[in-house]
Amino acid sequence: MSERTGAPNQEMNTGCCIVGGGPAGMMLGFLLARAGVDVTVLEKHRDFLRDFRGDTIHPSTLEVMHELGMLDDFLRLPHQEVQKLSGQVGDERLTVADFSHLPTHCRFIALMPQWDFLDFLSSRAQAYAGFHLRMQSEVTDLVQQGDQIVGVRGHSPDGAFELRSPLVVGADGRHSVVRERAGLVVEDLGAPMDVFWMRLSRRPDDDAETLGRFDTGVVFVMLNRGDYWQCALAIRKGSADEIRARGIAAFRDIVARLVPFGHDRVEELRSWDDVKLLTVRVDRLAQWYRPGLLCIGDAAHAMSPVGGVGINLAVQDAVAAANILAAPLRDGTVTPEPLRAVQQRREFPTRATQRMQVFVQNRILGRVLAGTERPSLPWPLKLVRACPVVQRIPARLIGIGVRPEHVRLPQG
Ligand SMILES: Cc1cc2nc3c(=O)[nH]c(=O)nc-3n(C[C@H](O)[C@H](O)[C@H](O)COP(=O)(O)OP(=O)(O)OC[C@H]3O[C@@H](n4cnc5c(N)ncnc54)[C@H](O)[C@@H]3O)c2cc1C
Repeated sequence: MSERTGAPNQEMNTGCCIVGGGPAGMMLGFLLARAGVDVTVLEKHRDFLRDFRGDTIHPSTLEVMHELGMLDDFLRLPHQEVQKLSGQVGDERLTVADFSHLPTHCRFIALMPQWDFLDFLSSRAQAYAGFHLRMQSEVTDLVQQGDQIVGVRGHSPDGAFELRSPLVVGADGRHSVVRERAGLVVEDLGAPMDVFWMRLSRRPDDDAETLGRFDTGVVFVMLNRGDYWQCALAIRKGSADEIRARGIAAFRDIVARLVPFGHDRVEELRSWDDVKLLTVRVDRLAQWYRPGLLCIGDAAHAMSPVGGVGINLAVQDAVAAANILAAPLRDGTVTPEPLRAVQQRREFPTRATQRMQVFVQNRILGRVLAGTERPSLPWPLKLVRACPVVQRIPARLIGIGVRPEHVRLPQG
């Protein structure tokens, strides 16, 4: 981290500097600009187009869109609606979560490409004079004066830049440069698996339901994306190279045994370019802030893919941070107290969610992946099968989360 800035060819100031234009950064940027704060979001990519970034918009995020008066316009974007999540363990198939009873305006998960969600937020945020989005601007370092973080340094196509701000927010994801340069301590919770993502075409007579399948040594999930299936194959942690070494044809055979339709479609996996690896990480920061700096979203807590709640938590962090920080940011001074308040507000939902994810991934998925025998129904699913009303509990945990946030800011 630099005390002095070197010689950037652009020196700028902003009321709040957000590093990273993912769900956390874009939602926070939008909310702060809406509340009258001058805010700059720095995103290293040229656009939001990246495949397999996580495309689930949960009922609590849709509720935030409703509170912002944007829900109807948002739902005009192409999306699919998932009302129920089903699972197949061995030969037994059951509904794991039923969202139809949630106390929210939308009782479904919307599946939408993440770039459409981010483009939507970006276009709405541009309506506010105080919102500035700088694409192709990669942050490489923090600027510090004494104990206080006072800005960031980075580079863009126009050359090196330095952006000064009363607050830097690290929303730069699971490989956060901000948290690393700030020296924040990361607690690694471990994960027994990695995930291969791929897409296979979907035909009109295919089953419509989103399905998880658990069988001997296998965890496989298929999400209905309209004209294609988004498929996830969980594998033992670190076994990706071994699987790749056996060749794409052998991989196609594995997938062919798992999909419930004709095997011809696995030919669509022509090479490893059609199969993306997600290295699963579950971690969290011991402290999310330093004077002049706060981390939110994956930068503060990388989530397991279990339940697909990473985007939701990132958005909820952004809503809580905006509620707490808008007033001090408008005044131009942010002491550590409101930063601590953001962590206090969001730490419990993060810990509780990660605890549930770690239970599922270690006690259920890890055992299935390590197993050589057909898995039997784990006890939480036995409970769901015995008492269908219990399906409302996972639906609530996945769809709404532990502590849903509400927009409390008037438009500035
Ligand atoms: C393959 C895959 C599938 C997933 N599936 C799901 C799912 O189905 N549902 C779900 O809820 N979650 C899913 N997730 C997790 C989800 O994507 C994350 O939890 C969520 O995106 C976190 O949002 P974020 O804004 O905190 O971080 P990110 O989405 O990671 O956004 C960080 C942003 O910061 C930018 N950035 C990084 N470094 C810098 C830098 N130095 N300077 C400037 N910009 C920078 C990045 O380009 C990125 O745009 C998935 C993740 C992966 C990788």
